[in-house]
Amino acid sequence: MSSSRSADTSNCPRCGERSLERFSTHTYCACCNYSNVTDEPYQVLEHVRILAEEVQQERELKRKAKKKESEEVLFANAI
Ligand SMILES: [Zn+2]
Repeated sequence: MSSSRSADTSNCPRCGERSLERFSTHTYCACCNYSNVTDEPYQVLEHVRILAEEVQQERELKRKAKKKESEEVLFANAI
């Protein structure tokens, strides 16, 4: 029964088995769980995006801390 639908599958780039199913948005291998959507490129991009956000937040915190520090110095000098 399932062998009649072999047109939907192709060879998996990871395990080489002919069990890579093609969907309209992604491919998925039932043999080794390979999926072109969850494979490295997307994850790396997401990881880089999160890292960039964290760096941005850290910079913002440092900037605020520095500003607060200089305000305290100004306040101390004013007394
Ligand atoms: Zn596979």
